[in-house]
Amino acid sequence: MRPLEAVRTEILKSMRRLETERVPFSESVGRVLAEAVVSNQDVPHFANSAMDGFAVRATDVSEADAVLEVLADVPAGQVASVSVSAGQAIRIMTGAPMPDGADTVVRVEDTAAEGDKVRVHTVVAEGKHVREAGGDVRAGQVVFDAGLRIDPVHVGVLATLGVVDPVVSRRPRVGVMSTGDELQPPATSDLAPGMIRDSNRPMLVGLLEDAGAAVIDYGRIADDSDELRAALGRAAVETDVIVTSGGVSMGDYDVTKLVLRDEAGVDFIKVAMKPGKPLAFGHLGGAPFFGLPGNPVSVVVSFEQFVRPALLTMQGASAVLRPQVSVVAGERLVTDPEKTVFLRVRLEGDAPAVQAIQAGGQASNVLSVAAAADAFAVVPRGVETIDEGEPVLIELFRSPATREHRLDI
Ligand code: AMP
Ligand code: MG
Repeated sequence: MRPLEAVRTEILKSMRRLETERVPFSESVGRVLAEAVVSNQDVPHFANSAMDGFAVRATDVSEADAVLEVLADVPAGQVASVSVSAGQAIRIMTGAPMPDGADTVVRVEDTAAEGDKVRVHTVVAEGKHVREAGGDVRAGQVVFDAGLRIDPVHVGVLATLGVVDPVVSRRPRVGVMSTGDELQPPATSDLAPGMIRDSNRPMLVGLLEDAGAAVIDYGRIADDSDELRAALGRAAVETDVIVTSGGVSMGDYDVTKLVLRDEAGVDFIKVAMKPGKPLAFGHLGGAPFFGLPGNPVSVVVSFEQFVRPALLTMQGASAVLRPQVSVVAGERLVTDPEKTVFLRVRLEGDAPAVQAIQAGGQASNVLSVAAAADAFAVVPRGVETIDEGEPVLIELFRSPATREHRLDI
């Protein structure tokens, strides 16, 4: 058995970087920036008011109960045509540019109208409630580095800057196929004895798309060497990466192994991890090939540990591994000290005492428990038990299932 980290490092080192392209910023969520984004302007690009109120000179409001002459109104989107002199104010709305002469904004709540004058009840410090030009972003500033995976908040910043066609990595084209004589289409209503629905392939399509891939689905492949050889041959010329499920372990019908065990450059690896011990990895006609196990939970774990980081590496992402955080074991966890073990856990309780509790049975075929889990508890090699109350690392591999903030309505 080889340690997970060593296997992953070797895989990631063999990934080539993909070419780049420009995409509309509005379609860039999930894409990886290939060039830094530099602002060509200050944001905001003019000083403006943070409040509805009155633009004044600070020297006029250095004592409470100043009474100032109101010259004009300036809503957002307009520019005051007059400037503020001593003893004067301009009514201003949030986001409107600061009029010339004014350096401070008094909140409307701190004032009272007196005919065409305004009384300012409070003392207001110079610069209060003014958003200075460049206070958010300065002209010339590197706002995002290359390698950033764009999310909707980043899209908002791109829009603010007018960066409408960021340069990103192109999507990896990933061919996916499932192997197994027992696999039937998910729409099958009456399963014949011995048959099951193919769950890995639709799941892999989603996992791959989440990792930025453009997926090509090669369908279900029977446990037949010729059929698999033909499909792999096509995928090797049509795709950047090939992912299969099933047929990589020790059985006589493990077709992936039968077809590829003598292929130069494809290794059948025993990874010191659970689930997901058997893994095939290599290159087929230049395309990285991942032969994942057949058990659905193993597929999820192996995908997360190897395929996702590999796809993000190809796209030039600077962060390719999921975040790990420390919580507390809510029960005694007993694992295998020879392997890195990924337990599917729920998170319970609130900070600072969030607890990890096994979400159900930990067998590698029990996909419903992975679906109910918030995270993997990652128990490293060399550790056999983690007692209740001891710290445990968790990896947030999906949006938490049970931690959504529930509203009582
Ligand atoms: P294998 O590695 O091919 O021996 O498969 C291991 C287990 O995973 C067996 O119980 C298979 O029936 C199951 N399995 C394989 N492929 C799939 C799939 N695409 N969807 C659901 N289960 C599968
Ligand atoms: Mg099989």
